[in-house]
Amino acid sequence: MGAGRFAPSPSGPLHLGNLRTAILAWLFARSTQRDFLLRIEDLDRVRSGAEAAQLAELESLGLEFDGPLLRQSERLPIYFDAVEQLKKQDLLFPCFCSRKDIAEAASAPHAAPGAYPGTCRDLSPAEREAKAKERPAALRLRAEVTEFSIHDQLAGDYTGVVDDFVLVRNDGAPAYNLAVVVDDALSGIDQVVRADDLLSSAPRQGYLATLLGHDVPEYAHVPLALNAKGQRLAKRDGAVTLEEITEHGVHPADVVAILLESLGLPSTSLQAALEAFDPVSLPREPWIVEPENIVQQLMPRASRNR
Ligand code: GLU
Repeated sequence: MGAGRFAPSPSGPLHLGNLRTAILAWLFARSTQRDFLLRIEDLDRVRSGAEAAQLAELESLGLEFDGPLLRQSERLPIYFDAVEQLKKQDLLFPCFCSRKDIAEAASAPHAAPGAYPGTCRDLSPAEREAKAKERPAALRLRAEVTEFSIHDQLAGDYTGVVDDFVLVRNDGAPAYNLAVVVDDALSGIDQVVRADDLLSSAPRQGYLATLLGHDVPEYAHVPLALNAKGQRLAKRDGAVTLEEITEHGVHPADVVAILLESLGLPSTSLQAALEAFDPVSLPREPWIVEPENIVQQLMPRASRNR
């Protein structure tokens, strides 16, 4: 039996879009008899108290997780084992570029737009030594391909850019792409469901999995929640977190119902949605959220509940 997962970054409360993705990840996992794991991606962008708030939010939705919760900040040696494994295969190189250097570098011929231009890939030992005096190095993957294909349940076969991406940041922390791949593989996660802004990262991650000797998971990148202007849902959009919505007297179960309705699923309970769940009939368009309307829509239910 494999597993699916939800992997929030504790950078603030989960908003409606994150909660909808969590429900989808649960539906995908449970409808395929997989375990459902929770991982806190706290190598970066951590806000104090956010993890506890997120756990409470997930619990109030009624989502149940299996297994111990993993926290990336407690797993650093595991990521560095993978770094060693890649180093032994000569698949890493130190990179001294700043973001600005990369933005200003002429891209290599045939390189995809935005791809790392290869500046530090073939520096001589003397050049490395000189640069190391000026700036700490990040470690990048010496990619042997320029693209890689993965399978996504919603997007189908998807081929995307693989460049020499960063595996260890120049502050010494493992990069997101490395930690995700290592964690998914070692946790037995073979189904990755997350928002579709990460679809373009999946080829890099799938390729890295193969270099580390792991199977590439099956992916399902689900549509994002956007505000009425087509931007990613954010705090400025109003009552977008569970806490803000429930302050208006709305019950979390009614929020679950709205999220399930937005997915075209029966909204009486998570269990009813699970029974009807079929990935093929999921909406493929972003979910446009107008928080004021959601609260308005939920208020009559709130008074009914009293
Ligand atoms: N931690 C990431 C986020 O909250 C998700 C990473 C993933 O699902 O691979 O956006």
